[in-house]
Amino acid sequence: MKENRIAIFPGSFDPFTIGHAAIVKRGLQLFDRIIIGIGVNKQKRMLSEAEKRVAIIKSYYSDEPRVGVESYNDLTIDFARRNGAQFILRGLRSVRDFEYERDMADMNRRLTGLETVLLFTEPPLAAISSSVVRDLIGHGYDVSDFLPRVPGKNKTKQP
Ligand code: ADP
Repeated sequence: MKENRIAIFPGSFDPFTIGHAAIVKRGLQLFDRIIIGIGVNKQKRMLSEAEKRVAIIKSYYSDEPRVGVESYNDLTIDFARRNGAQFILRGLRSVRDFEYERDMADMNRRLTGLETVLLFTEPPLAAISSSVVRDLIGHGYDVSDFLPRVPGKNKTKQP
């Protein structure tokens, strides 16, 4: 039987945007299973606690059994190993992302043999970043256009 292709999609997802969701959707064409991993990084300002973020992202994928969501506070390569993943999925928005992603991909492959699969963002989504969305939320703007929909609901409510 063909081995399941499992990818982790690691990030801060603070918050998870339609840019992230587009990468997951396209990744599902390549992988049998994707586990979204919320890296808990103490240096980054947290919008909400990791577990709350896990619950929100799970709600987006309540009708997609091939997507899992978990938080982790160790190395991404260890998170991948625990989940039996052979691939790391990431998105590339611009040249600004490039060198960082290349160095991480190289290091992770050297250490574990894990391959990183990078998908170019769809151009209309390239400008959407968690930091901009977070900033807008902080100033009271409605960001629902930038957040995925919960299946069965029209729009998601911001926590
Ligand atoms: P990190 O803090 O690890 O960069 P992020 O949550 O910001 O985590 O992003 C996770 C992944 O999603 C990264 O690979 C990032 O490049 C990608 N990503 C973020 N926003 C977009 C977008 N609008 N289109 C495509 N990929 C994106």
